[in-house]
Amino acid sequence: MTLFPEMFPGSLGLSLSGKALEKGLWSYKCTNIRNFGKGVHKAVDDTPFGGGAGMVMRPDIIEDALLTIKKPGRKIYMSPRGKTLTQNLVEELANTKTLTILCGRYEGVDQRLLDAYDFEEISVGDYILSGGEPAAMILMDACIRLLDGVMGNETTPNEESFASGLLEYPHYTRPAKWKDANGTLHTIPEVLATGHHKNIDQWRLEQSESITRQRRPDLWKNYFGKRTKSYK
Ligand code: SAH
Repeated sequence: MTLFPEMFPGSLGLSLSGKALEKGLWSYKCTNIRNFGKGVHKAVDDTPFGGGAGMVMRPDIIEDALLTIKKPGRKIYMSPRGKTLTQNLVEELANTKTLTILCGRYEGVDQRLLDAYDFEEISVGDYILSGGEPAAMILMDACIRLLDGVMGNETTPNEESFASGLLEYPHYTRPAKWKDANGTLHTIPEVLATGHHKNIDQWRLEQSESITRQRRPDLWKNYFGKRTKSYK
C-alpha cells in the first residue's frame, strides 16, 4: 500500500529478485492509496490534531484501500517506531505466504488505523526515511532471497552474517597476488590455497569470531553463551 506505486518493483525487478519475479517465485501488487483520496485533489492526509508540523495520513482512506485487498495476510506498517528488522524476523516473514506492507509518507499514519487493523510495526533501523517504500523494499529483498529457488547455489544462506549469530569471515578471489596502484603487493591468507577443508573451516570460524567480537559486542555476547565449537 503506497502513494508511489511507480517505485515498485524498482531494484527488486533486477538481478536475482528480478529473475525470481519473472519465474513467479514471488509476486507483488501495489494498492495506490491515492485512488482512495477525497476531493478534486484526492487528498489522503490532513493536519494533526493537537497541532505541530507536517501532515498525517487519514485512517478512513487507508481503510478503504486496505478493504480492497482480499487476503491481506500479515499486516505490516513500516515505521521507525517498530521492532527492528533482523535476520530472524526476515526468516519468519519469508515463511509467510502473504504480507501486506503499508508505506507511510509525511509524518506517518493515524494511530487508530494501526490499532483497528492490528498492523505490526517494523523498522529498518534507527534513522528516518522520507517514506516507507525504501524500507518495504529492504524487507522484501531480504525475504525474497530466502525463498526456494531464488539463490540457486550462489550462496548458502546459513553461512552468511547473522545466520549463525556471527558476522561473516573475509572473502578472497583471483588474482592470488595483487599489486595495487601504489605498487604494494597483497597476497591471500595461505590456508585458503591449501585445499585443506578442515583447516579452512577452522580459519573462517576464527575470523568470524574475531570480527564479531571486535565489531559487535552485542552479537558476541549472545553467541559466546551458546557456542558449540570454537578455535580456543
Ligand atoms: N514522524 C515520524 C517519521 C515519519 S517518516 C517519526 O518521527 O517517527 C515517513 C514514513 O517513512 C513513515 O511513516 C514510515 O512509513 C517511513 N519510515 C521512515 N523511517 C523509517 C524506518 N527507519 N523504518 C521503517 N520505515 C520508516
